[in-house]
Amino acid sequence: MPAIVKDEMLVRGVVFYLDSELPSEAKFLLEDFRLAVNNAIRAGLQARVTSRNALCKLAYKGFRQEHPEMYSQHLVSAFEVAGSVLKNHRRRIRKGVTCGIPYVKRRIMKAENQAYKLDRKSGVVDLPIRAGCHVELRLIVSQYHRKYLDDMSLSLGSLTILPDRVVVAFRKDAPRPYAPESALSLDTNERSVDGVFVEGDVAKTIKAEFPEVAIIQQRHHDRRKRLQKRKAHDRRISRELCRREGTREHRRVDYRLHHVANSVLKFAEERKSAIVLEDLKGIRPRKSKELNRRLSMWPRRKLHQIIEYKAQWRGIPVVKVDPRYSSRTCPICGRIQYSRMGAEFACECGWHLDRHVNASINLLQTAISKGMAGGLRFNPGAFQHDVMMILYEPAMAARSEPNGTSGIAGVT
Ligand SMILES: [Zn+2]
Repeated sequence: MPAIVKDEMLVRGVVFYLDSELPSEAKFLLEDFRLAVNNAIRAGLQARVTSRNALCKLAYKGFRQEHPEMYSQHLVSAFEVAGSVLKNHRRRIRKGVTCGIPYVKRRIMKAENQAYKLDRKSGVVDLPIRAGCHVELRLIVSQYHRKYLDDMSLSLGSLTILPDRVVVAFRKDAPRPYAPESALSLDTNERSVDGVFVEGDVAKTIKAEFPEVAIIQQRHHDRRKRLQKRKAHDRRISRELCRREGTREHRRVDYRLHHVANSVLKFAEERKSAIVLEDLKGIRPRKSKELNRRLSMWPRRKLHQIIEYKAQWRGIPVVKVDPRYSSRTCPICGRIQYSRMGAEFACECGWHLDRHVNASINLLQTAISKGMAGGLRFNPGAFQHDVMMILYEPAMAARSEPNGTSGIAGVT
């Protein structure tokens, strides 16, 4: 069973756009908040402290004198943000990454849940600015947002405010995963997820294909290369353009991975399956730089992250197993092949099957042998070679290109 700590709180950030421009009082507050964060960062660096309380002691008085009106809850929250910036900075230094003094450039602020009110019916945020001064922020509420606002089992966490949107954190206790009645074992690859679905005595092949992800990655990689060449005379511009390209790439890939994850989870939930995944933790990057980029592990890890996170939120059990030898073992006789072969796995004992599907069977057998899949069993004799269930294919993303972040925000 997944390692869910009892009483664990799950948090999900939901983006809401504002229906009009931020009121000027709120804009000033954002500006002050940024100042407070940056002040606290400087003070914290000098005194070598990172905890919120220490920063509070250090910087509260001074900032209070300069900004006597700022709501004190917001000021404390600024120290919290500064603390996390400092911790990240310290981690980078420890890793040996050279970096300058951290500094918050964007206008952004975070309000803890006691420091704002959200009317969940109307979608109006009441944000205190200072004594006697509050502003109202009207959120644009879609059907997607309604699901969160109307679900009273979700409590409200912090509120992050940006000039054009806010992020509301919704929290809930991790639900107990159901007892699995079937299993969905998945071998994650560069362009697809291949696996086997086992229910009772029947085992079927399943597939979710996302070749666009690799294509998007390739295209963005080429574009970055071109940009670097063309803007070689100006490092600053070149870097900025590449960063933007990278953000765009991540968004487009994310969008698809969310769809793939959703179809996998829907399938599993409807059939009360446990999801079996390979544990990607130990897999090291390859040596060759070119190969490394092409076979980038990032989308695979990301897909797992999304699946695990959403499964936890919905109470779907996820089992992770060591993938060692999973692509080279015969699930019938247990022989381990010396080398990887082509698209098909074939064993001396006569067993042959699509290489990826074969790997997923090995993952499932590992999970079963370790008692991690409930009381499920797998009977290779009952495997239906000719049946394939498609969970996802590129046509399902036919709405194709999301523009900006709206596409991601809309995916549940
Ligand atoms: Zn064999």
